[in-house]
Amino acid sequence: MNVSDSERVASSLVAEGYELTQEESEADIILLNTCSVREKAEHKLYTRVGQVREREDRPMLGVMGCVAQLEGENLFAHGRGIDFVIGTRAVGRLGDAISRVGQGEDRVIDLGEREEDYDWSVSDRQRHSPYVSFIPIIEGCNKFCTYCIVPFSRGREKSLPASEIIRQVRRLMEEGVSEIHLIGQNVNSYRPSSAEGLEGVAGATPFSRLLRAVAQTGIERIKFATSFPRDFHPDIVDAIDEHENLCNWVHLPVQSGSNVVLRGMRRGHTVESYMRRIDRVRESHRDITLTTDIIVGFPGETEEDFQDTIRLAEYCKFDSGYIFRYSPRPGTPAYELEDDVTFEEKTRRFQELERVIRRTQRESQEKIIGKTLKVLAERVSAKSDDVLTGHSTCHRVVNFPAGRHLLGKVIEVEVTESKVNSLFGHAKGI
Ligand code: SAH
Ligand code: SF4
Repeated sequence: MNVSDSERVASSLVAEGYELTQEESEADIILLNTCSVREKAEHKLYTRVGQVREREDRPMLGVMGCVAQLEGENLFAHGRGIDFVIGTRAVGRLGDAISRVGQGEDRVIDLGEREEDYDWSVSDRQRHSPYVSFIPIIEGCNKFCTYCIVPFSRGREKSLPASEIIRQVRRLMEEGVSEIHLIGQNVNSYRPSSAEGLEGVAGATPFSRLLRAVAQTGIERIKFATSFPRDFHPDIVDAIDEHENLCNWVHLPVQSGSNVVLRGMRRGHTVESYMRRIDRVRESHRDITLTTDIIVGFPGETEEDFQDTIRLAEYCKFDSGYIFRYSPRPGTPAYELEDDVTFEEKTRRFQELERVIRRTQRESQEKIIGKTLKVLAERVSAKSDDVLTGHSTCHRVVNFPAGRHLLGKVIEVEVTESKVNSLFGHAKGI
């Protein structure tokens, strides 16, 4: 979501006449986009502010993103040298803030709501890839998991109209984009205020209807993240089974394999309800990649709870997973609980769980050797000019020797090798 925010901000600033530079030392204005999901990310901001402040030419300095939204005015005192602060939903008024600072105003701050006519599109030059584009479909979060700061930094859930999403997909297709990612904190909680754009499209939930409506545009590949387990209706898997262009990848963060911990986290799912969803995903004829997020060391998590997580990870055979050490966030309900698992113990659990997920990942990757995957050639590999790299429909990174004339094309690659976090293979018929 932060990458998507940066792309939109870059698009709107260029449209207003600003010029972007890749060279930090040349910049007259520096804008830091921030994350506050864990404490470490927040600390990075203050380090960066310190670095910019050391510059003699004193560029204008602004902060946007989640830390901006949460800290607001405090940032001016805490991070001396900051000229303006823009909240998560105020990014459409960034140009105004810059002009005000330019006219000599001090400590400009805007933490206000998003404009009704906010432009969600990204210009083709500002996308992280010419062939892949993010489309936010829902912002904010209403779930209030007890450890999480996101509902405070991103506000309440608000879904974009399906008609607007489909209009964006069609425009991106015209611009040569082959793959779109429908993004949001919980995409499957999608609930637009009207059914405009979904007329005549079947589905058990607004999200599965949206998936089918987007599939019907004929765009080559559609991915979506993140899915919230409680709202993960089996009709999502039905839609993937029906439409080839809905990609075979589901990111479904479980957070813990212990019902006691899940209750403490207020996740709204149990180990058993999660397993039922996984069973449905695994039954698909599409061979769906399953990835997850897990927190280790939530307050009160015992060794037994942790072993339940290990067992669940073994059961689910995750194809990949992000593991996080619990980080107390001020303002969240869990912050009031004692952070009673030591950092060393969190690290030990992290490593034990990582070993299990790396093994299930390796086993699932090894099963692909000899098979053919459809890979979008996204860029030349950083390691070799003769190798292209991209993602498969199942969202695995695949490297293969080929010339740059194939960039942007979907190539059939026969997989020959499994590496730690990627696959290697040879393009067929070339
Ligand atoms: N909406 C998504 C994820 C949002 S945040 C979901 O519900 O799954 C991304 C991930 O950061 C979460 O899945 C969680 O694993 C991790 N995370 C969030 N808050 C955290 C905290 N306080 N400490 C450690 N990890 C955290
Ligand atoms: Fe945070 Fe839970 Fe919302 Fe995900 S669903 S963003 S973890 S509160």
